[in-house]
Amino acid sequence: MSPLAQPLEERAIHSFPRRFVKARLSDPGFRLKQRDLALPAHHRPRQIVKFENRTLIGGALEKQNLATIVGWVSSELPADKPRHLLGISEPDDLFNAVAAGADTFDCVSPSRVARNAAVYSASGRYNITGARYRRDFTPIDDECDCYTCAHYTRAYIHHLFKAKEMLSATLCTIHNERFIVRLVDQIRMAIKAGEFDELRDHVLGRYYRT
Ligand SMILES: [Zn+2]
Repeated sequence: MSPLAQPLEERAIHSFPRRFVKARLSDPGFRLKQRDLALPAHHRPRQIVKFENRTLIGGALEKQNLATIVGWVSSELPADKPRHLLGISEPDDLFNAVAAGADTFDCVSPSRVARNAAVYSASGRYNITGARYRRDFTPIDDECDCYTCAHYTRAYIHHLFKAKEMLSATLCTIHNERFIVRLVDQIRMAIKAGEFDELRDHVLGRYYRT
């Protein structure tokens, strides 16, 4: 039997025994809980997929399996319901998840990495505490329209981190959140224009160039 001909539950359990869950997709009101999983304790997932009034998809999935699993689940969900995917924020994951059917996202990562001085830019993610930014008087990302990029330089934010000023994390969080929102806005417009693949190639080609 081809893997795709197997029921979703079997595919998920056999392919991703430690991370994924089986979901009783035929019952939209069913709320999955760990005790409902027919898996040995050491194979239980860390997070749970839920299907309630809203359509939610969640789980600690391995990066390389994200699109495959989201595609499986999306194909079995009602076409007229939104699909909400938790914990996704890297640009390649966003494009893969959208292509596989995800509609909306939320994730702590943009703010979490910002608190550790990691910032997104069109040409990739970098750490602003690097010595090269000590006297760099350009914004975090000169293509960004956020408050931070309009008012602060890399050099100043670099200084704030070195001085352990809490404002550093706030400013970088504002930027990273705005970066992701702008990216999703771009994706939405590209889908409407029929240019999703072109946008993906363009954005990811720049972001992961190094
Ligand atoms: Zn910005």
